[in-house]
Amino acid sequence: MKVLKFGGTSVGSAKNIKSVINIVKSNPTSEKQLIVVSAFSGVTNLLLDGIQHILNNKDSFDTISAQIVDIHLNVINELIKDESVKGTIFKYLHSELDKLKQLYQGISLIKELTPKAEAKIVSFGELLSSFIIREAMVANGLNAERKDARELIVANSNYSNAVVDFDSTNKNIQEFVAKSTSNVIIIPGFVASNKQKETTVLGRGGSDYTAAIMAAALDVDALEIWTDVSGMYTANPKIVKQAKPIAQISYEEAMELAHFGAKVIFSPTIHPAFKRQIPIYIKNTFKPDSKGTLITNEPNENQSPAKGISHIENITLITLEAPGMIGIPGVSKKVFETFFLHNIHVKFVTQSSSEHSICLGIDDADAQIAKEAIDAVFELEISKEQINPLIVEKGLVIIALVGEKMKSHQGISGKMFSTLGKNNVNIRAIAQGASERNITAVISKEDIKKALNSLHEEFFEDNIKQVNIFITGVGNVGGKLINQIHQQKEYLKKNLNINFRIAGLSNSRTMLFDEAGIDLENWQNELASGESASLDGFFKKVKKLNLRNSVFVDITANAEVANLYQDYLKNSIGVVACNKIACSAKLENYKELKRLSKKYDAPFLFETNVGAGLPVIDTLNNLIASGDSINNIQAVLSGSLNFIFNNFNDSVAFYDVVKQAQKEGYTEPDPRIDLSGVDVARKILILARESGHNIELEDIVNTSFLTDANLAADSVDDFYESLKVDEKHFQELYASAKANNCQLKYVAEFNNGKASVGLKEIPVKHPFYNLEGKDNIVMFYTERYPEQPMIIKGAGAGADVTASGLFADIIRTANN
Ligand code: ADP
Ligand code: ASP
Ligand code: MG
Repeated sequence: MKVLKFGGTSVGSAKNIKSVINIVKSNPTSEKQLIVVSAFSGVTNLLLDGIQHILNNKDSFDTISAQIVDIHLNVINELIKDESVKGTIFKYLHSELDKLKQLYQGISLIKELTPKAEAKIVSFGELLSSFIIREAMVANGLNAERKDARELIVANSNYSNAVVDFDSTNKNIQEFVAKSTSNVIIIPGFVASNKQKETTVLGRGGSDYTAAIMAAALDVDALEIWTDVSGMYTANPKIVKQAKPIAQISYEEAMELAHFGAKVIFSPTIHPAFKRQIPIYIKNTFKPDSKGTLITNEPNENQSPAKGISHIENITLITLEAPGMIGIPGVSKKVFETFFLHNIHVKFVTQSSSEHSICLGIDDADAQIAKEAIDAVFELEISKEQINPLIVEKGLVIIALVGEKMKSHQGISGKMFSTLGKNNVNIRAIAQGASERNITAVISKEDIKKALNSLHEEFFEDNIKQVNIFITGVGNVGGKLINQIHQQKEYLKKNLNINFRIAGLSNSRTMLFDEAGIDLENWQNELASGESASLDGFFKKVKKLNLRNSVFVDITANAEVANLYQDYLKNSIGVVACNKIACSAKLENYKELKRLSKKYDAPFLFETNVGAGLPVIDTLNNLIASGDSINNIQAVLSGSLNFIFNNFNDSVAFYDVVKQAQKEGYTEPDPRIDLSGVDVARKILILARESGHNIELEDIVNTSFLTDANLAADSVDDFYESLKVDEKHFQELYASAKANNCQLKYVAEFNNGKASVGLKEIPVKHPFYNLEGKDNIVMFYTERYPEQPMIIKGAGAGADVTASGLFADIIRTANN
C-alpha cells in the first residue's frame, strides 16, 4: 500500500485533476492507494481572507461565497459530464455553503473570531475538494471511497495547529483501512477533530502532514508528495532560477530545509515517516516522469556537504539586553515562558556568551505582542535600568544553509559569510546548531534574492559565476564592448566558468535594465526606447536591483559619473573605468577610491586609462606585487599626438592633420585636451601613482609645444583657427627635428618621483623613433630591469582595443 498526497496546485483545475487521476490509474490495481488531497488552489487563502473582509465590513458573505462557488463550479462542469453525479456534488456544495454562511454570519455579528470558528471555516476547502475528486475518480472507473479525516485523526484543541494524539489516531486509521474494500481511499488533508468532535486543522500546509500520519499508521511502503515542482530543490526555484532538484536527501536534512522555509513539504510531515523509515518521494504532478526527490536514510553517493538553502521571510529580530543582570539566572527562562504563554513561536535564537544579550527571531505578525509582553514582564528591571527596553527590528529574513556533512568539512561557514560579505549583504545575527546540520543568518529582506543566489552559486553551481554588468556611456567603444561580450559569452562560460550578463545600459539619452540579461542581438532598439537617462537614476536602479557580482563600467569622460564611483564601491559594486578623471583628480580622491575598493571587496580597475587595451597598469601592478620597484618610466602615451606627428611634415598643414585625427576618432571630442598635453600628463600621473608615488597633476612639468595664442583659445573652433594662423610655428618644429635627423614624439617621463611631459626630438636609434601610426610605447626601468627596460608597445587608441581593455578588466573583476 502507498499513500499519495496531491497539493493545492495539483488539484487547481479540471485539467490538473485529470493528471492526478492518470497518476492514480497508472499504479497497479492490486495495490491499495490512500489519496490525501488539499483544497483547490487558492481556496484556503480565500476562506481566510473572507474572515478578515467580514470582520472589517469589506465584503458580504455573498461575494465570498460567489468566489468559492466560481472556483469549484468551473472544475465540476469541466470534469463531470453525468448530470446526476453533478446533482450529487451540487447538493453537497450547497449544504456546505449553508454551514459556511452561518459561521461567517456568526463572526460578522459578534465581530470577533474564535480559533474554533476559524478552524471550522478553513476546513471547507479540503472537505469540498475531496468530495469532488472522489466523484471524478468514480466517474473515471476507479473503485474509490471518501473518508472524512476528522473521523480518523484525533488531536487536541489547539484549533489551528492541532497536536495529534497518535494512539487513538493510529488505531482509527488501521481499523478503518482494514475494513475498507475500496482500491482507492480519498482523504481530505489538513482537517482533524478534537475529543469533542470539533473541527481542528493541522497548520498551514498541513495536508502533507495528514498524508504522513496515514502513512505511518499503516506502515506503508512509500509516501508520495505530489506537487507543482520536480522535488525538493537546492533553493526555492521561484527565487533562484539555477536551483536544481535534490535527488536524495536524509530525513534530518529535509526536516531542516522544511523547517527553514522550503514549503514544498510541511516540516512536521517528515517525523512520522522518519520514525517508521518510510521513504518519502516528492514528485511533480505535471511531470510525473521526472525523478523528483527521495527522502530516506539510505546511503547516498552525493556526499556534498551542503544540500540546500532555505529561507523564512517576515522575521522580526527581538533583542533583549540585560547589562545589569549578568550572572543572574532566569532572564532567558522568563523570555521563553512569556512567548510560550502568548503562543509566539521562536524560529531563531542566539545568546551572547556573556549573557549580556539574547536575540530571538519571531514572525513579524507577533512582534507587537512580543514587545508589549516582554516589556511588561520586565517592567521592574527596565525601570531599574538593569534591562534595556526590547529592541525590535522588523522586515528581516532567516536564511539557512543545510547539510548533514557540513560538520565534517572545515570552512563552510567561513565560505558562507565571506560570500555574503563580498556581496555587501549585512548579517544581523548568526546561529549554528550544535548538530552543525544548519548554519543560519538573519539578513535584511532587500538582500534576500542576492543572498540566496550568491550562496547558491558558491555552493551548488559547479563554480559557474554570474557577473552582472552595467555600462554607462554606450557609444562607439560601448557598442564594440557589447559585441565582444556577446561573442565571447559561451567561450567564457565554458572555459572560465563565468557567465556574463549585461543587466543595464545607458547613453546620454536613455537607459535600459533587464536583470535577466539584455538581449544582445537587439540592444540598440531596446535602449533607444528605454527610460530617459540620468546618472543618479542609473546608480539608484543598479543599487535597487541588488544583484550579486555587479560591475559598473564607465565609458564616459564625465566628471559627474566619476563622482559616483564611491557610491558604487560602497555598495560592493565593482567599477571598471575608461574615464580617467577619477584617477587623475585629487590624490585624496584616488586614495579614497582605492580604500573603498579594499574595504568593500569591490574591484576598481582602469587599465584603459593608459594605452587603451595595452596591459600597462596590470603589468605595473604585477611588477610591484612581485617585489620589483619602478625607477623610471618613459613613454609615448598619446595615440592622437603620435598620429598627428607621424603624419605631419613640410608638405601638409598642421591644422589639416589635427582635423583628420579628430575625424578618425583619435582625439578627445575637444582636441585641446590632447594637444595641450593634459591627457598625457594624466596618464603619467596615474602610472606614477600606481608605482606608489603621491603626486598631483600640478606637480607634472608640462612644456607645451603650442603657441600662447593656441593655448588662449576659448572654444574648439577658435583653437582650430589659431592652429591655422600659427602654421609657421609648427613648420619650424618639424624643420628643426628634420635637420637633426630626428622624429617628433610627445614623450612622458617619470624619474625618481618627478614627472614631465613634452614634445621631444627623438634620434634614430631610440626605441621611440619608429613608433608607427597611433601606437603607444611604455618603457619600465625597474630594479629587475635596470638597463634593458620592460617594453609594452602597440595600438594605444581605437574603439576595438579600448573595448577589449575594458573587457579584460571586467574579466579581472570576475576573477576577484
Ligand atoms: P502544494 O500546493 O503542492 O502543497 P506548495 O505550494 O505548498 O505546494 O509547495 C510547493 C512550492 O514550494 C513550490 O512551488 C515552490 O515555490 C516552493 N518551494 C520553496 N522552497 C522550495 C524548495 N527548496 N524546493 C522546492 N520548492 C520549494
Ligand atoms: N489547504 C491548506 C493550506 O493551504 C493545507 C494544504 O494545502 O496543505 O494551508
Ligand atoms: Mg504544501
